[in-house]
Amino acid sequence: MVHAPTRPLAGMPPVRVNLYSDTQTRPTPAMKQAMMEAETGDEQGGLDPSIDALCDRMAALTGKQAAVFLPSGTMCNQIALLVHCQRGDNILAHRTSHILTSEGGGTAAQAGAQVMPLDGAGGQFSPDTLREALAPGSRHAPTQRLVSVEQTANLGGGTVWSLADLTEIAAIAHENGMATHMDGARLMNAVVAAGVPAAEMVAGYDSVWLDFTKGLGAPLGAVLCGTHAFIDEAWRWKQRMGGALRQGGICAAGCTYSLDHHVDRLADDHVNAATLARGLAQLQGITVQAPQTNLVFFDTSGTGRTAGDVAHDLRMKGVMVSTMGTYRGRACTHLDVDAAGIETALSVFREVLAA
Ligand SMILES: *Cc1c(COP(=O)(O)O)cnc(C)c1O
Repeated sequence: MVHAPTRPLAGMPPVRVNLYSDTQTRPTPAMKQAMMEAETGDEQGGLDPSIDALCDRMAALTGKQAAVFLPSGTMCNQIALLVHCQRGDNILAHRTSHILTSEGGGTAAQAGAQVMPLDGAGGQFSPDTLREALAPGSRHAPTQRLVSVEQTANLGGGTVWSLADLTEIAAIAHENGMATHMDGARLMNAVVAAGVPAAEMVAGYDSVWLDFTKGLGAPLGAVLCGTHAFIDEAWRWKQRMGGALRQGGICAAGCTYSLDHHVDRLADDHVNAATLARGLAQLQGITVQAPQTNLVFFDTSGTGRTAGDVAHDLRMKGVMVSTMGTYRGRACTHLDVDAAGIETALSVFREVLAA
């Protein structure tokens, strides 16, 4: 979970291939043009047509009644947890989930809920693991309020939860009086990889959100979806947290642009990730987790060098990757990296590991 510094350090060579994160994508000229032409209004007053259009589109895409535009994915998670949970409640989620590892303890600090971490390969817990974790209410046990899944599972390796597991997990949760939440930061990567429509994939989930700042390439924005009642409550928290916006339609227009132009091309990122993984697997001492989407996790322990050491040497030759543990590195493909960039990255990897 330790990210390498992104700030360019004095004397560092320029970045040639940025595989650090899909969050580092930049708006394209055409996306900026769409943003410049956006109709706007005062969003806090419900008067921004570009935000309304994006929210309507997202509600339709996910098959939910309503949606709310928020500045970031983290705010979508935090507000969803605030709406679903009371203080002292338990949230059942994977041990590596973003809500547990990467939101500054916001789940405890804001909702006052705690995460009961579940285990399982690839950032996913099985329906059976969930069944075993069920604790029928007593005065001792916390109330089990919510089951949360992450599609794709980031630290799990960008894995895609199967529709069968998603459906079964949601059914178990609902049968046991729990609500369901999906952190869909990279939902469209899963949709493209699995060939399952978004609405079908998220049908069992009471709340779901999509991030536009990952592989979709927008500068900011995420949309949280759910029932009318859920989104009304989410709006109250958005206001309380200072997340209500004024002419935010400029940003929403970039998100809508990304839905029109940057979804199908996620398949290219997945092909590039597979090519990168195949190349890395041929390097002495490197083991690679086979990618399912755009995240390629590799392990450097067989080289006798830490991932941080390898990442540093790569950076000195203009290739950026992130590190997620002593020997675990992550390379992430996205719309600013093409097939030639993958070849460049692989040849730099070869040089660095031969040294
Ligand atoms: C990036 C990410 C988030 C947070 O989104 P931000 O827009 O960066 O706040 C949440 N969950 C997962 C799985 C992510 O990858």
